[in-house]
Amino acid sequence: MNIERAEDPQRVRLRERLESILLRTEKATSWHDEAAHLRGLVNHEGYVPIRARLAGEDLDFLASSRDELLVFAELGLRLLDLHQPRDAGGITSDTAHPILRCRSCMWRWPCPTFRAMSESFGAQPARLTEPA
Ligand SMILES: [Zn+2]
Repeated sequence: MNIERAEDPQRVRLRERLESILLRTEKATSWHDEAAHLRGLVNHEGYVPIRARLAGEDLDFLASSRDELLVFAELGLRLLDLHQPRDAGGITSDTAHPILRCRSCMWRWPCPTFRAMSESFGAQPARLTEPA
């Protein structure tokens, strides 16, 4: 018998919140190139007086992006603290490079959570061993 378990409501709310952030962010205009241009116009008081044409989607994004980015950065730091390697113990023939496991999820290091974070934030691939 196949019993489907109803999805955890807390998990559903979390997914909806993340999807709404993703959607709102995708709709907003990127300021990457404009910011580079404006940086050269900073006046002696440290400001750039600008006029900007902002779409409704841009205002939706700007209204919450700072708070959301702070939450994401805090989440990233918490996950990084949780998912870190430790010596798995046991007998190995290579004592210079012991087998490491994640101290939180116990997967072999680098664990899937750390790999996902590395991929998302564009860091270098995790090393299995220290450089010589
Ligand atoms: Zn882990």
